[in-house]
Amino acid sequence: MNYKNAFYLPSGRVFLLETSDKYPIECTEMRDVTIGGKEHYEVRNTLDPHIIWKHLKDYEEKWLMTVSTQRGCPHSCHFCDVAELGFKGDLTEQEIEEQVRFILTATPYVTKSNKVKIGFARMGEPAHNVDNVLNVVKRLPEISSSMGRDFKWLPCFNSILPRKTTKGESGFDIIDKVLNVKENNYDGFLHFQLSINSTDEVKRKELFAGADVLSIKEIIDYMNTKTISNRTVTLNFIVMDGIEVDVNKLADIGLNGDKFRVKLIPLNDTIRSQTKHLNTYANYTNYEELIKLGDKFNTIGVPIVIDAIAKCEEAGLCCGQLAHIFINN
Ligand code: SF4
Repeated sequence: MNYKNAFYLPSGRVFLLETSDKYPIECTEMRDVTIGGKEHYEVRNTLDPHIIWKHLKDYEEKWLMTVSTQRGCPHSCHFCDVAELGFKGDLTEQEIEEQVRFILTATPYVTKSNKVKIGFARMGEPAHNVDNVLNVVKRLPEISSSMGRDFKWLPCFNSILPRKTTKGESGFDIIDKVLNVKENNYDGFLHFQLSINSTDEVKRKELFAGADVLSIKEIIDYMNTKTISNRTVTLNFIVMDGIEVDVNKLADIGLNGDKFRVKLIPLNDTIRSQTKHLNTYANYTNYEELIKLGDKFNTIGVPIVIDAIAKCEEAGLCCGQLAHIFINN
């Protein structure tokens, strides 16, 4: 993997690397921001880097990174610009590991951290490359200690859960493989995040550009039969105007707080989302609408996480956008 460029947000960097066959690959490292009450308001309502810098968490407390798992993606979700790049297959285990090593090498001053959250979620659907991804997940502690770092890792496996992967594995096989590593290698401290977005299955599949994915009921029923310790499974909703998120429907099919939590994420303003005329349901300016939706989940006993801080869209640095610029220039 060769270094091509780095771009800066107030909270971190997006790196552009290139594979030996000249495919542009993105990975990122970011610091989290403190989000308590008034501070959250201040950070949410600004693009001023000076204010964001003031609220960044120490690396030692929490550090965030993402790495890509494929050369592009075989899917073309309506809200994601990775689709524009064209799909050229899986990254090897070594290519995924190289991104982790690259980020650590580019950040030599971070020698200790109590939580390094790494998302296998920049470019690509990791279910199609599950063995390479999970092999790297399992070896993260070995990789960081071999580079002299004292890290406690929190891996994050984000998936749309295709019914069948490009290698012929079922979505249920993927759940089993991820939960096995979660429970046996990480004592439950692995984030398993599933892209749900709408409770209307027809709309949901349309947003995934027709990809055949496991239904929400199939996911909930299957997860309810499994041991899930420490970190519960997160159902991600990118909230969009006019797209159904029906909390009662989810409660009726078995959503519960013992196995699940829900994350509400404003829609990033990407090229694809504009082309598909998708608008966010709420964001920084009407954040209280997200809180109200979150309250509905709380009434059925499901914990909520609201993610309204990323701010990559203003800089044109959402997933795939940098690689897109690189290819076009
Ligand atoms: S959201 Fe994920 S699965 Fe969908 S196109 Fe983007 S990278 Fe692929």
